[in-house]
Amino acid sequence: MHGVHEVAGSSPVSPTTHMITILLFYKFTRIDNPTKESLIHKEICLALGLKGRILMNEEGINGTVAGTSEAIALYRAYMNQHRLFKKIDFKESHSDANPFPKLKVKARREIITLDIQSPDALCVRAKHVDRDTFHDWLKKGEDMVLLDMRNDYEWEIGRFVNSVRPPMKYFRELKDSIDFYEPFRGKKIVMFCTGGIRCEPASAYFIAQGFDPSLIYQLEGGIVKYAEKYGNEGFYEGKCFVFDDRLSISINTSDSAVIVGHCYHCDQFNDIYHNCANKWCNKLFLACDSCHEKYHGTCSLSCQIIINDPVNVRPFHTPVLHRNK
Ligand SMILES: [Zn+2]
Ligand SMILES: [Zn+2]
Repeated sequence: MHGVHEVAGSSPVSPTTHMITILLFYKFTRIDNPTKESLIHKEICLALGLKGRILMNEEGINGTVAGTSEAIALYRAYMNQHRLFKKIDFKESHSDANPFPKLKVKARREIITLDIQSPDALCVRAKHVDRDTFHDWLKKGEDMVLLDMRNDYEWEIGRFVNSVRPPMKYFRELKDSIDFYEPFRGKKIVMFCTGGIRCEPASAYFIAQGFDPSLIYQLEGGIVKYAEKYGNEGFYEGKCFVFDDRLSISINTSDSAVIVGHCYHCDQFNDIYHNCANKWCNKLFLACDSCHEKYHGTCSLSCQIIINDPVNVRPFHTPVLHRNK
């Protein structure tokens, strides 16, 4: 545990007076014509004034949409009566402004990127553990390995206590880092990610690699679902990175919230992400206000020198947001 720090600048998970509701969801379901289905879906979202990103393929749907609470209620009602999309376990969070600039509904070859050669090998996924059982395990100090299936920059600002850091920059590199997980073979493993979707292919990949399926679990609904119930007294420390304009959401909204990230320059506790002001670098990094000012919004002295050439300057106070790749 680190010291107590004020956590500011992002939206709490629990509903307060926020005007915008954000839904995170996925479902693996057979969609015969994803292109047609996505066009219909886009019309519905447009009619409701929703923004966000929804991807579909023959195997399912993966999306994050944001809109007024009324629009979101209508969208959920629509989904719940839909023959393909009913019974989705939606994760909700809230914000003062819509964190998406526009709406994208697309049919894509992959709805979650896990650069693996034979998708057929990925049909056996790990069983789910619900948040209550999982919380109980954590409370009892159950002997298990907590595997974070997210990217390193997500881990940097928040994670479950005692979880294992993924040795990959991006989730799609999982197959290159599989050796790292060898020592956990034969142990009880619980995987988690933001909303649960990345654990589906990841757990299947571990099982395909010969890990014992009876010992592997995936946290149902991910960090977001856990935080809805156990945010303030749970075992998750720091913020949760999200792939929209908010960049992160607070998990613990009480006074006991801690900051687990560090300023890239001075190493003080900090969890505010910036993209390097040197547009050719564009590195996503954490910086405290004073270092951000001191280094002119860049990640390093060399980037600072580069932007001293006026041709290279990116407006200092324009928020520049990292996108998932
Ligand atoms: Zn600093
Ligand atoms: Zn840089």
